[in-house]
Amino acid sequence: MEDAVLIIGAGIAGINAALNAADYGFKVYLLDDTPSIGGVMARLDKTFPTNDCSICIEAPKMYEVDNHPNIEILSNTEVRKIKKGKDGFKVRLVKKARFVDEEKCTGCGACVEACPVSVLDELDGKVGGKRKLIHLPFPQAVPNVVVLDPDCRYGRMREQGACVGGCVVDCSQCRECPIALCVKACEKEGKDAVRLWQSNKNINLEVKSIIVASGLMPSEPPTGLFGYNEYDNVITNMHFERLMNAGGPTGGEIIRPSDGRHPKKIAWIQCANRGLAKGHLPYCSKVCCMVANKQTIIAKEHDPEVEAIVFNMDLTAYGKNFWEFYQKAREQGVRYIRARPFAVMEDPQAKNLIVSYEDRDTGHLMEEEVELLVLSVGLIPTDRNSKLAKALKLKLDKFGFFREKDPLISPLETEMEGIYVCGGALGPIDISESVVQACAASMKAVQRVGQASQ
Ligand SMILES: Cc1cc2nc3c(=O)[nH]c(=O)nc-3n(C[C@H](O)[C@H](O)[C@H](O)COP(=O)(O)OP(=O)(O)OC[C@H]3O[C@@H](n4cnc5c(N)ncnc54)[C@H](O)[C@@H]3O)c2cc1C
Repeated sequence: MEDAVLIIGAGIAGINAALNAADYGFKVYLLDDTPSIGGVMARLDKTFPTNDCSICIEAPKMYEVDNHPNIEILSNTEVRKIKKGKDGFKVRLVKKARFVDEEKCTGCGACVEACPVSVLDELDGKVGGKRKLIHLPFPQAVPNVVVLDPDCRYGRMREQGACVGGCVVDCSQCRECPIALCVKACEKEGKDAVRLWQSNKNINLEVKSIIVASGLMPSEPPTGLFGYNEYDNVITNMHFERLMNAGGPTGGEIIRPSDGRHPKKIAWIQCANRGLAKGHLPYCSKVCCMVANKQTIIAKEHDPEVEAIVFNMDLTAYGKNFWEFYQKAREQGVRYIRARPFAVMEDPQAKNLIVSYEDRDTGHLMEEEVELLVLSVGLIPTDRNSKLAKALKLKLDKFGFFREKDPLISPLETEMEGIYVCGGALGPIDISESVVQACAASMKAVQRVGQASQ
C-alpha cells in the first residue's frame, strides 16, 4: 500500500490540505468531481475582510498544486466505494468522461469558438451568464482543459444548432466524427483532443488516509420569497458576487437583469431564507453579514453614487477585523436598517422593488424603493454529500454536513479511523478558518500515514 493521502474536494480547504501533506513528502491524490479545482473561492470577486482579489490569491495555489511533484489531480472524478484494510483504504473511483483528451488539450479555446450553441450557465444563468456546449469551466481553471456537455454528445442539443446541422447521428454512437465543429477546430490546431466517444473510467487506489473537503454551496431561495423568481431584479448574494467579478458574466459590470442598467439604489436583505418555515435554514451561515459588507463596499467602489441599504436584525462579526470591516462599510455611507421586510412588490414599469418593513428602532412602518434587491441566502452542504457519505460509510448531521467524532476532543476526526474532514464539509465557514482546519486535518492525515507505515 502506497504512503498516500486521498483528498476529496479541491476547494481552498482541499488545496491547502494537499499542499501541506505533499510538502511533508507524501503522495497526494487531490480529487474533485467537477472539471476544475478551486471550489467556491474561484468564483468569488474579492474576499472579506481585506477585499483582496479572490482568484489572485487562489490561482497561485492552484498552479502550485498542478506542478507539485507529489500531487496528482483527479478532476471530474467521483468516489464510488472504499474498503478499509489494516493499514489503510482501497478506493474505487470513477473518472467521468469529459470527452476531451486531458493530455492533448491545451485550453487554446479554438473548439469553444467553433461551437455554435450557447446555453445558460448553471452558476450565472440568472444574471445573463452563458457558456458553450464545449467550454473551459472558468478562465483560470486547473487543469486548463475544456469539457464537453454530454447533452451535445447524445444529440439532445441538435434543435439548437449542434453540431453542423446535417448530421442526425447520436455522437455517442459515432466513433470518429469528421464533421463536428469542435473536432474540426481542434484538428486544425494540430491537436486532435476532442474525444466524442470517450467513456467513464474506473480507477483503483490504495491510500493510508483520507481527508473529506467537499465544501458547501449557496442555497437557492424558495420561489416567491421577497419576489425571488417572480421579479427580475431580485437576485441572491452569489449572483451579486458574480456581477461584481471581472471574470463573471457581465465582465464586472453591476447591472440589473431586467434592462442592463446600472442600479443606483441597492438593498440587501440579511438572513433572507433563515428560519423554521419550509425551505428555510434553521441555522446561521456565519459569513453572510460580512459578505454583504463586502458587497456594499465594492458596489460603492464601482460607483460612489450607489446608495446601499442593508436590512438586518443581527450582525455576525465573529472573526478578526470583522467588526472594523463593518465600521468601514458604515463610514462609507452604507445604511443599516434594523428590520426584516415583510413584503416586496415590483413597480411593473420601472421594474423597481418596493420593500415594506417595520423599522425596529422607531416602530414605524416604512417603505424603500430600490432598483436591485439582493437576498443574502445561507450556505448549505454540497448536494453530493449523502452519496459521498454512503460511499465512505460516514455519518452526516441533520443538515447534511459531515459529522465529527467529537468536536470538542477529536475535532476534524470522523467515526472511521483514518478519515478526517475539514472546511465547508463540516458547516458554514469562511476562507481563513477553512485554511486553518485544512492544515490541522492534513497534519492528522500524515501522522496516520506515518503510523500505518511503521
Ligand atoms: C457568495 C459567497 C461569498 C463568499 N465570500 C467570502 C469572503 O469574502 N471571504 C471568506 O472568507 N469567505 C467567503 N465565502 C465562504 C467561502 O466560499 C468558503 O469559506 C470556502 O469556499 C470554503 O472552502 P471549501 O474548500 O471548504 O469548500 P468549497 O469551496 O465548496 O470547495 C469544495 C470542493 O469540493 C468539491 N466536491 C463537493 N462534493 C464532492 C464530492 N462528492 N466528490 C468530489 N468533490 C466534491 C466541489 O466541487 C468543490 O470544488 C463566501 C461564500 C459565498 C457563497
